[in-house]
Amino acid sequence: MTPQNSYDFLIVGAGYAGAVSARQLADAGARVLLIDKRPHIGGNAYDTLDAHGVLIHPYGPHIFHTNSREVVQYLSRFTDWRFYEHRVMAKVGAGLYPIPINRTTINSLYGLRLETDEAVEAYLASVREPRAKPRTSEDVVLSSVGRDLCEKFFRGYTRKQWGLDLADLSAGVAARIPTRTSDDDRYFADTYQLMPAGGYTRMFEQMLDHPGINVRVGQQFERLEGIRWGHMVYSGPIDAFFDHCYGKLPYRSLRFEHQHLPDTPHFQATGTVNYPNDEDFTRITEFKHLTGQQHPGTSIMREFPQAEGEPFYPIPRPENEALFKRYQALSEDRSDVTFVGRLAQYRYYNMDQVVGAALACARRLSSGQGSAQS
Ligand code: FAD
Ligand code: UDP
Repeated sequence: MTPQNSYDFLIVGAGYAGAVSARQLADAGARVLLIDKRPHIGGNAYDTLDAHGVLIHPYGPHIFHTNSREVVQYLSRFTDWRFYEHRVMAKVGAGLYPIPINRTTINSLYGLRLETDEAVEAYLASVREPRAKPRTSEDVVLSSVGRDLCEKFFRGYTRKQWGLDLADLSAGVAARIPTRTSDDDRYFADTYQLMPAGGYTRMFEQMLDHPGINVRVGQQFERLEGIRWGHMVYSGPIDAFFDHCYGKLPYRSLRFEHQHLPDTPHFQATGTVNYPNDEDFTRITEFKHLTGQQHPGTSIMREFPQAEGEPFYPIPRPENEALFKRYQALSEDRSDVTFVGRLAQYRYYNMDQVVGAALACARRLSSGQGSAQS
């Protein structure tokens, strides 16, 4: 074994979990091999120019939002930012209404003229179906906006997205979407809402540009040969790591349908339009809104959820969490491996949460505390 084939750390997956861990460990003086089975870095946040020169997100629209100053400061080492606040409309019947549900949604849907937060609050109080302890996503939606808004905006979207009824998903899924009594129509309420000015892939390139990091894309972990390492950081699906020995952990997948519209400055008024009801897809995103790119044409993407295919979402429901816990118990016996990231921790993490988890993981590894489960 030559020294070139020997590393302090092998990191599997070049998304946020793997790339942030790699950079932190390399900054602390370690020699790191970072591999990804895909032909590129960035994981699901990867962006690239399409055949028409429009910057797109091939694995679905990625908008950076966080309340963590630490995470923004960290990523700012590798990118400048563009200020961007995402807005989403939902198509219900023939109309387009702001989602998250806000004062405008309620007024325009029901022909009302509620003018204050208090008036909207009183309206919601009259339609809500309170639940003492919301357990499912249905409990969350019914107790915040009542049945009619639930059926119009949530039930169909959720069935398409997850292949499950709202009542069969943990509360945290629908709890991602707030209800507003104001006319704030931003999708996210976080303090920091930004897009990397040169794109996500560029940011990852900067992060991985370090003499201590060797990157190999197109390299599946299971086919890696002739390499020796001290410790592994694994950010792929945890059940695959253990050969699905307790059975497959369910993940939800997506099929993406891309379209370029030449000589069309814009296709839709907001970055994303959600289609909760009649169509087979859940949403259409127009990337130029997100990236601010100037181009005579525009590129859009429809998302069609599916059961099979690349794992994109853990499916938060009690039986899946119970199965994950069994895999997690196995992982705790592997002091030579640290599991971090959305698929390895089976958590519905946003990008900033994965950055936070990877920073914590690298901190523990650098201080010699070994296996880093959070
Ligand atoms: P990933 O990005 O999935 O990276 C894991 C990598 O491991 C992959 O590249 C994979 O190829 C590689 N890998 C797996 N197994 C192996 C193996 N055996 N050998 C080699 N390589 C392997 N978050 C936001 O904050 N804002 C958003 O707007 C947003 N939108 C999203 C939209 C969609 C459609 C999806 C699916 C996710 C979205 N997210 C968003 C979440 C975001 O993508 C994740 O939080 C983040 O990218 C997860 O990073 P990760 O490193 O954990 O995993
Ligand atoms: N959701 C919905 N209708 C919407 C938007 C969201 O029912 O118009 C529900 C749905 O279950 C979805 C979840 O809220 O999966 C979380 O939405 P989010 O936009 O955060 O999903 P992501 O961007 O992670 O796919």
